[in-house]
Amino acid sequence: FNSKLPHVGTTIFSVMSKLAADYQAINLSQGFPDFEGPKELIELTNKYMLEGKNQYAPMAGVTILNERISGKIFELYNAQYHPETEVTITAGGTQAIFTALAATIHPGDEVIIFEPAYDSYAPSVKLLGGLVKAFELSPPDYKIDWNMVKKLISNRTRMIILNSPQNPTGTVLKQEDINQLIKLTRGTDIFILSDEVYEHMVYDENKHLSLAKYSELRERSFIIASFGKLFHNTGWKVGYCLAPKALMSEFRKVHQYLVFSVNAPVQYAIADMLLQKDYFAALNNFFTEKRNFFRQLLQQTRFQLLPCEGSYFQCVGIKNITDEKDTDFTKRLTTEFGVASIPTSAFYSKSTDYGVIRFCFAKKQETLENAVERLTNV
Ligand code: GLN
Repeated sequence: FNSKLPHVGTTIFSVMSKLAADYQAINLSQGFPDFEGPKELIELTNKYMLEGKNQYAPMAGVTILNERISGKIFELYNAQYHPETEVTITAGGTQAIFTALAATIHPGDEVIIFEPAYDSYAPSVKLLGGLVKAFELSPPDYKIDWNMVKKLISNRTRMIILNSPQNPTGTVLKQEDINQLIKLTRGTDIFILSDEVYEHMVYDENKHLSLAKYSELRERSFIIASFGKLFHNTGWKVGYCLAPKALMSEFRKVHQYLVFSVNAPVQYAIADMLLQKDYFAALNNFFTEKRNFFRQLLQQTRFQLLPCEGSYFQCVGIKNITDEKDTDFTKRLTTEFGVASIPTSAFYSKSTDYGVIRFCFAKKQETLENAVERLTNV
């Protein structure tokens, strides 16, 4: 069989979560909370199901949800996205990412990806016949050297994928990065795919600089967001995409034949939840506390703490501890010490191994405590 993705295996998230389950390890690998989201959201979903909101939602999303998202984006980022033509509800962030790529990438088009990167980007580009131009970032600060990025641009560059806060590094784009990005793309026909699913998990003096805020970037960008991250229900698979009308019209051409529309009762329920004014600020405080708590605990271990400016991931260096490949070490950490994590080499197309692994701290306090107790034995 002539595989379309000959070098792709099973995603590292499934591999590590399965290993964690097989060995009854504490699972800090795949990014998902081990606590419940707002009960009210579950009750609202229930209510809408009982009320009969059980048939296809409109292709682009339930009108009231599109409107509330548009309102929220205006409030947060002072950006106008028309609810009818510039907001589309998707089956989670990953589907939105694929759809945006499928709508824009022609065979031979080049896509710039900053690695370590979420593992769906590169295979999606390749599946569409695009060419991945990986820009490698390195620990500890994973800073982008924009002069070097400029050298990657060619007349075949069709898209730049950005992810801030970044999975797995936890870095966030700064104003200087935004300025450089504006300069780099001005006068070109390069699109931007901005994966902002961790937008409400940004710490210390950092701010989330959504590309929606910058008109020059907004006009060329697909912005991706995820309700699973907001409401602690990654299993519900609901997210959305924002894009200017002309781009969104192309996005919808694909969306309508890929999923057509998304879970209807959940959309009505989320629309109600978006009326809660202080939810996002509270969410940020909630994760700030988790991050601080986890970082503090990790100081008792031999793992080397890397910065965490955003997201719910904490990367640590393992060079003090072992010479093993990060993939071998994370396996052993799961099977021998009972804590599952993600080797960051899985996020580089060349499997570059800096001896850095990723933990997810979207976990109950006791889970984090128990995990770190085991990590102190390493
Ligand atoms: N985004 C989550 C992570 O990075 C999980 C995504 C997935 O499992 N597909 O862990």
